[in-house]
Amino acid sequence: MESRGEYLAVLGIDDWRQRREMAVASMSPAPGPGSAPEGWDSIATEVAACRKCGLCETRTRTVFGVGDRNASWLVVGEAPGAEEDKQGEPFVGRAGGLLNSMLRGIGLAREQVFIANVLKCRPPNNRDPAPAEVAQCLPYLERQIALLKPRIMLAVGRIAAQNLLATDTPIGKLRGHVHNFGTAGIPLVVTYHPAYLLRSPTEKRKAWEDLKFARRVAAGTQA
Ligand code: URA
Repeated sequence: MESRGEYLAVLGIDDWRQRREMAVASMSPAPGPGSAPEGWDSIATEVAACRKCGLCETRTRTVFGVGDRNASWLVVGEAPGAEEDKQGEPFVGRAGGLLNSMLRGIGLAREQVFIANVLKCRPPNNRDPAPAEVAQCLPYLERQIALLKPRIMLAVGRIAAQNLLATDTPIGKLRGHVHNFGTAGIPLVVTYHPAYLLRSPTEKRKAWEDLKFARRVAAGTQA
């Protein structure tokens, strides 16, 4: 396992090119009169069959998300990579290994949190998600969040942070603050993406600071 001191911190990546138009504020609507409350299975069924954007043509598997459906922590990444696309599970490649170590560093097993991505399908060649793809896909995540009701969200990487917060502020400026997600105002903390940290290992220290910050926020001991 990576030692705590090895966790990276990353410089802000400010090459944002495309603004996402849609606001992320709205959560899933309340069920109408007479209709049953939504469950995880109905979202999973929809995601597995989703053809709302062109990524359905190139994906191998959809990646719904994994973990404890009663978790206090929700970790949100960008999109499945090659290995995730093959296995149908988020963060199972090298970046996933580092993410697991980062979580263990603050006392959390992978199985204790819920892990998902902004996109459920892999963009070809790991390109950035297109705004239209995010607009189609993010409602699935919002519905998952409405069920999970996490105590804290950890956005890993610029793409996750900027899309969840509907901003183009560089990640370096989003770190170190408690943001609020959606109408429920779920506390959201931003850190660097483990794939970035693998490329820039000397920067793990800042990510470690972010994780300790997030732990304090989750515990309610961070003002
Ligand atoms: N990177 C991500 O953002 N998500 C994954 O699931 C894998 C790699």
